[in-house]
Amino acid sequence: MNIKQEIERLKKEILLHDHQYYVLDKPSISDHEYDLLMRRLIELEKEDPNLVTADSPTQRVGGAPLDKFSSVMHKTPLLSLDNALNIGELKEFDERVRKGLEMSEDIEYACELKIDGLAVSLQYENGLFVKGSTRGDGVHGEDITENLRTIKAIPLKIDPDISIEVRGEVYLPLKNFYKLNEEREKEDKPVFANPRNAAAGSLRQLDPKITAKRPLSMFCYGAVMEKSKKLKEQGTQIGTLELLKELGFRVNPNVKECNGIDAVIKFCSEFEEKREKLDYEIDGIVIKVNDLAAQKKLGATMKSPRWAIAYKFPPQQKETVIESIDVQVGRTGTLTPVAHLKPIRLGGVIVKNSTLHNEDEIARKDIRIGDHVIVQRAGDVIPQVVRVLKDKRDESVKTFHMPKHCPVCGGDVYREEDEAAIRCINSSCPAKLIESVKHFASRQAMDIEGIGDALAGELVTSGLIKDLADIYYIKKQDVLGLERKADKSAENILGAIGSSKGKGLDRVLYALGILNVGRRAAELLAENFGDIDALMNAGDDSLTAIEGIGPKIAASITAYFKDRHNHHLVEKLKKAGVDLTSKIKANKDGKLSGKTFVFTGTLTVMSREEAESLVRSLGGKTTSSVSKSTDYVVAGTEPGSKLSKAEKLGVKVLDEKGFNDIIK
Ligand code: NAD
Repeated sequence: MNIKQEIERLKKEILLHDHQYYVLDKPSISDHEYDLLMRRLIELEKEDPNLVTADSPTQRVGGAPLDKFSSVMHKTPLLSLDNALNIGELKEFDERVRKGLEMSEDIEYACELKIDGLAVSLQYENGLFVKGSTRGDGVHGEDITENLRTIKAIPLKIDPDISIEVRGEVYLPLKNFYKLNEEREKEDKPVFANPRNAAAGSLRQLDPKITAKRPLSMFCYGAVMEKSKKLKEQGTQIGTLELLKELGFRVNPNVKECNGIDAVIKFCSEFEEKREKLDYEIDGIVIKVNDLAAQKKLGATMKSPRWAIAYKFPPQQKETVIESIDVQVGRTGTLTPVAHLKPIRLGGVIVKNSTLHNEDEIARKDIRIGDHVIVQRAGDVIPQVVRVLKDKRDESVKTFHMPKHCPVCGGDVYREEDEAAIRCINSSCPAKLIESVKHFASRQAMDIEGIGDALAGELVTSGLIKDLADIYYIKKQDVLGLERKADKSAENILGAIGSSKGKGLDRVLYALGILNVGRRAAELLAENFGDIDALMNAGDDSLTAIEGIGPKIAASITAYFKDRHNHHLVEKLKKAGVDLTSKIKANKDGKLSGKTFVFTGTLTVMSREEAESLVRSLGGKTTSSVSKSTDYVVAGTEPGSKLSKAEKLGVKVLDEKGFNDIIK
């Protein structure tokens, strides 16, 4: 791969993670891994500055504002911060600052904790809180005034002589984060990956009543003064913090004026130790040139000020012991080894388990039962075993072997040649059934609220559910017979089961968990066949004739419907009154009927899959390649060759806003 290709690959990858992190509040990699990707991109762009484009993530701040809130233009941009991932990079920052200020003596820095939350701006006019917004892309943010009003740490009124814009971080205190996740777990709702995502998700609620229920708080760390003599007296960052405190804002007490970079480094290592004792999460230290006039002289790039840097703590690691390893069985029958650890407190949570992924991973790291290991938790909830401390190993350690039979049903297991996973082959294995029930009831499938981890397990182990269709034959008495189920909650669950019957064929097909059939394929199948009988009778040829359905999906479908158990399952669903006809077809004379769309590039407001499914639900068609019969090409950021093809063929091109206007 040459530099250009690697840059393109990194840009794409980072953009995808930005979307998951900033828009969906659901990151799939740790912050540290993300920072390393970004670091590599910066390095490559330095090697060949001609390859830096304006849309590169190295040139932009955070995520775009969501359309669901009205947009606010910041009076002065809310920038991001450059990162230092080690002490060497901190020293380089200090050198850059001294060069910029033409100073040889020690610089005075203000060191603050880097609160892991969400940056917001609060505007006060003549002492009244009038507008609050997120940082967004740095220039435009989302108007979340009503949600911010619910946070008790934010004063609604200050000195009436003052008009000021205050900046700070909204965060969720750790104890509230644990409580929130515990409640979500009880309600069988997905838990938040970390306090930052929980804070972002809570603040960007359309209904402020939901925000009000989430006990958020805020620390303020910056100000832009408008009409007041008061700031003129403050010549430093520390002075600004003092002033904010006097005005009634919450300011973090752990601030230190440090003379020279060595004092800064000392402060950073001090808090790397102390961070665990705080009742909020921090991911580093922010170091700012203390003198405001010097800050002005240094200025900023498009993305970040030159007078500040964020020193990011390395991922948190700790030593513990592997007490045992057991094996869990997933929906597809995959056997996953899980290490049970001597419990340790790591990054504010008690860590007891860690996935070991598969047999190859255990062999590669040479992990044995009884080993002393280093465990890491990096921003997310799933801790990893990083390495074994071999010099602490004694004779009592035991080598772990994957079982030859499924640990749940005792059935045979097999391993495909080119796969790392070992699977249980018994189709009626209860472990598989529990996971299948959870998938069937999940939001994107039949959306049955109340059936999650706990209830799915109870329903299967109590024998009430022997196949997926049994869900529709559960009676109130059955649910009441289960542990801790009250009358009201049993009614709610039955209500949710009842209303899921009308979701339509595409959701049912996805919910059944047929191998290789994701949401998109399920929609295409529903749209093209109209009802389940037509689909069950379809041969490979008529399946692959559908654009988007390849031979692999077609083979999975024919294999699935060849099995008589699955025929029986469909019959049972029908009998229970589950709608097995396509809703998508019924919408054929929708607004976009007869129009064909092609998508290219990344969208910010919704994923491409969501946009495509929206088009189809409005009667339109989506295809993957541009031709003369294409009506619209919707181009997100970093569009591919489809855009130039559209221009060549004279096909109408829409940007994301244009697309949103059409579907509104
Ligand atoms: P950042 O979080 O590295 O630093 C800037 C932010 O720090 C500011 O906007 C402000 O919100 C915050 N901050 C906290 N305390 C502060 C203080 N005392 N003074 C000033 N600012 C303070 O930058 P970012 O642009 O918000 O986000 C980029 C980072 O987000 C990445 O480095 C990565 O760690 C994470 N990220 C992760 C993923 C992922 O997939 N895991 C994706 C995107 C971003």
